[in-house]
Amino acid sequence: KDRIVIVGAGMAGAQTAAALRQQGWTGRLTLLGDEPHPPYDRPPLSKDVLLGKADSTAFDLDWAALDVELLTGRRALRLDGAARTVHTDAGPVGYDRLVAATGATAVPLPGTQGVPGVHLLRTADDALALRTALRPGVRVVIVGAGWIGAETATAARQLGCAVTVVEAADQPLAGALPADLGRLTRDWYAAAGVELRTGAAVASVEPGAVHLADATRLAADVVVVGIGARPATGWLHGSGVDLDGGGAVLADARLRTTLPGVHAVGDCASFPSARFATRLTVQHWDNAMLGARTVAADLLGPDAPPYDPVPYFWSEQFGRMVQYTGHHPSADRLLWRGTPEDASWTVLWLRGDVPVALLAVDRPRDLVQGRRLIERSTPVDPAAAADPGTPLKSA
Ligand code: FAD
Repeated sequence: KDRIVIVGAGMAGAQTAAALRQQGWTGRLTLLGDEPHPPYDRPPLSKDVLLGKADSTAFDLDWAALDVELLTGRRALRLDGAARTVHTDAGPVGYDRLVAATGATAVPLPGTQGVPGVHLLRTADDALALRTALRPGVRVVIVGAGWIGAETATAARQLGCAVTVVEAADQPLAGALPADLGRLTRDWYAAAGVELRTGAAVASVEPGAVHLADATRLAADVVVVGIGARPATGWLHGSGVDLDGGGAVLADARLRTTLPGVHAVGDCASFPSARFATRLTVQHWDNAMLGARTVAADLLGPDAPPYDPVPYFWSEQFGRMVQYTGHHPSADRLLWRGTPEDASWTVLWLRGDVPVALLAVDRPRDLVQGRRLIERSTPVDPAAAADPGTPLKSA
């Protein structure tokens, strides 16, 4: 265990490095990533950075003081497990233990790469380029009404752009939430002055316009593609690190991969959730932070406790704080706290009387209380839990 090499210098990689030092690792520690910047935080990119309220979102970590060898602008190309070597675009790097933390990359819309005016939003450089383009009066077409699409629409409206969101599904957030809940956010788009076109497939994009499958032509000075992210694991092909059908690393309950000496963490990894009896790939900030602690603990041994978090994420859209925790597919019913007409509301998913997931709109306290109940698998009294005037607590 003489040299630990972390590949991918995003949230998960940076937090793994910091956690290793906090937990007492004094050996050699290398953090390498392909971006030119020191590790930084992504959530502000679609919020404060687009709005011009922040430029850099670099983590407040002193790499020299942590004695971490930070290699930026360095891309891993291939992993040789037998030789314990990661081959990079600047030569081989040997390791004793390796952590794969290469995150995910934004999925491009086929045929639009290189078309002038088309943007993705994954990196700091993406955010700065998009920000330059979002001038008052500019016509912006956003493809995808997911989390990134909604946040980008929010920022673009605040910056005075004319915004249209095109979504292939029949309602926003189709990949993340049941249709009835995603549909409720339609009003948010309307109130913000954003035109939302659902059930609309993009046929092609040319400079200045987006063509839909129904032959509609949308004038577009700027096109933002926000249709998801896929694990950045191409460099692991053929290494003995097994991937799932979606390209995520198949990690075990301690985030170990199928190749001895290699862990995986963050957006690039899936893990077995004993709690929800399914394998989860969680592409959210909190998972990168918590997973990093497990990987550090497991590297320093003895065996770390199994990684079995209650997933959590937030999104800031149209002036609202939207927070989700848990995993609702394991629920058998849904319970409302408040009504969709209220300014703020929460829905709770239950299995029997035990909460398994929660969605809170401008109700941060429900999130904190609900997450605790989900963590402990504590039953609630459904009648009491439905009353938004009382705290969420166990029965
Ligand atoms: P990443 O942050 O993707 O870091 C991986 C790093 O590895 C990258 O720097 C990448 O360039 C590098 N890399 C990839 N391949 C290689 C290679 N072959 N060699 C070397 N380096 C490589 N989550 C929330 O919970 N709430 C939010 O509000 C929220 N907002 C977001 C807004 C935006 C615009 C984006 C893009 C994401 C947002 N997220 C949010 C998600 C959150 O940022 C991610 O879950 C988190 O960044 C995952 O961290 P990671 O380290 O696993 O991956």
